[in-house]
Amino acid sequence: MGDTEVNCLYCGKKIDNDVAECPHCGAVSHFQTRGYRAGARPRFILFWIGLVLFCLFLVFWLPR
Ligand SMILES: [Zn+2]
Repeated sequence: MGDTEVNCLYCGKKIDNDVAECPHCGAVSHFQTRGYRAGARPRFILFWIGLVLFCLFLVFWLPR
């Protein structure tokens, strides 16, 4: 177990910062860096960057 405690975002109880999910309410911890959702945010940001570039392409390069 970790030596740092944080408060669960959902139930507010003290949990170790390296656990995958809260032992009290079962919510996924946002403090631990391991886990199945670790790569979700970078892909989400890349999706939005691509969408913005696509919109810029439409605005500046298409004839009006
Ligand atoms: Zn909790």
